[in-house]
Amino acid sequence: MDAVEEMKDEDRQQALLLELHKLVDRTMRLMVVCGTQNRVILKHGLRQKLPPMLELVAGPGCSVCVMPTGHIDAFIKIATQPMVITAACEDLIRVPGSKESLATIWKKGARIEVISSPMDALDIALREPEYTVVYPAVGFEATAPSVAETILEAARLGIENFCVIPSIRLLPPTIDLLMLDPDLNIRGLLCSDHINTISDTKAYTQLAKKHHLSCYIAGFKVIDILEGILSLVKQIRNGESLVDDHSAFTYSSTENRKARRMVSEVFFAVDTDWRGLGTIERSGFVIRDELSLFDATKRFNVRFEEGLESCMCLCNAIISGRGLPPDCPAFGLACTPQNPVGPCMISDEGICHSYYKYNLPASRFSSSLLDFITES
Ligand code: SF4
Repeated sequence: MDAVEEMKDEDRQQALLLELHKLVDRTMRLMVVCGTQNRVILKHGLRQKLPPMLELVAGPGCSVCVMPTGHIDAFIKIATQPMVITAACEDLIRVPGSKESLATIWKKGARIEVISSPMDALDIALREPEYTVVYPAVGFEATAPSVAETILEAARLGIENFCVIPSIRLLPPTIDLLMLDPDLNIRGLLCSDHINTISDTKAYTQLAKKHHLSCYIAGFKVIDILEGILSLVKQIRNGESLVDDHSAFTYSSTENRKARRMVSEVFFAVDTDWRGLGTIERSGFVIRDELSLFDATKRFNVRFEEGLESCMCLCNAIISGRGLPPDCPAFGLACTPQNPVGPCMISDEGICHSYYKYNLPASRFSSSLLDFITES
């Protein structure tokens, strides 16, 4: 961006903030679902610039933050089998299970490779035919097409030493559940345009209608986010429950159809566990029986069981909009990015990590969080 554009952007930001200060005349609580958008908000100090009566809470949109310990335990069980290479994304490796993480078993000799896409795992399988390469597939619905494509490619090429631990989650059923809690009192959802990959915004239109919510689908720039927040505030003032889609990129319907076809060829939806939120109906994917050769849980006969979570960690409250990181007694003391207690401090998308990095003062949500802790 050149200097002139930067100035124009600054002016636009100021104008949006000014308008927001004029329009927010009562408490309005919005959920910023996506971890990346939360990071942008914190990085640019938007929380301090917004009207005090506009409350932003985080949502469950950070894929490693919502991983229950039981799933991490299953990844570890498989990773410690003989002749196994676990190929996983960097953030996942540090997420603690009940006793260990992939990082700690790596130090003890398990073979772990850090990768950035499922196809990287398939490449390792081709390079290392004497090993079974296991890919723990985490992420939300936007991740599912690339995982499905990799499984179909492995099947097409007959690469039998590759398999996937299916741990992909679907956001709409979880947001639906959260919105049933009247104490949360969320009036608007700010979502990222990743949701368009397979959901095509239909699920959000239903959520908006059912819960009388305003939704805005935005990109990741400060301007995108401020425009989204302003649109939500206007909708709330007008009593509207619409989905306003301003994606930075829109998948063509052909791409969308192809992605959906691959996903339904490989996966079907089942009830799935979420960190601190329990089992949520049809909120995750498993691999179809026809492709069970590529399902690591079947190949190694490992089930997802209930794990132990640190009693100190309040990630469950934070990813469900019931508190913010500075409300956690461990924040910045026992829990730092160097020594994370919970997953929200690990990933760049984790809100505790972003709060720590951008060093914000204590939040104003302490009382609501304390109510939640006392009740649960
Ligand atoms: Fe969990 Fe650490 Fe965040 Fe507290 S600060 S909620 S312990 S990740």
